[in-house]
Amino acid sequence: MTIDDSGEWWRGTEFVDLLEYLDALEPEGYPIQKVVEARCTCGDGVFHVHLQPDDELAQTECVACGALTFVADSEQHWDVADDIEDVACPCGGTTFEVGLGLAIRGDAGEEWVRWASLGHRCVSCGVLGSALNWKSDLSLSDDASTRVSPQTPPKVWDVAAALDD
Ligand SMILES: [Zn+2]
Ligand SMILES: [Zn+2]
Repeated sequence: MTIDDSGEWWRGTEFVDLLEYLDALEPEGYPIQKVVEARCTCGDGVFHVHLQPDDELAQTECVACGALTFVADSEQHWDVADDIEDVACPCGGTTFEVGLGLAIRGDAGEEWVRWASLGHRCVSCGVLGSALNWKSDLSLSDDASTRVSPQTPPKVWDVAAALDD
């Protein structure tokens, strides 16, 4: 894992750097305990990210095969008549590794997402960013809580375990 935070933006060399970035970001002051890595069933892991930011909605699009996935419960509120923004890196790139960060409340067995944060690492230049974060009340037992890409079951990283090396 290599993070370069010397410039205006943090840059990472691999997906796990996105965990460190989201961990440092702490949206709304809540620590991120888990990050879901976006992976496609076609085998690829690079995505475009589409947003309806006013409504805190997001969709990923696999660059290799075009598969579309609504993030979390975005599909319920997505309005095809509304404008869609594409996430772009400061370098102009629009292809990213994507991670859905989750701040979780509750005990094992009955856990809920308190806050969710969508992070991305530009595959062209490595710049790390987060385009959107939002208050959530989805149960972790709800498939929507970890939905960010077509792969099921999703690949879920435990942030403390991944960064403790
Ligand atoms: Zn794909
Ligand atoms: Zn870039």
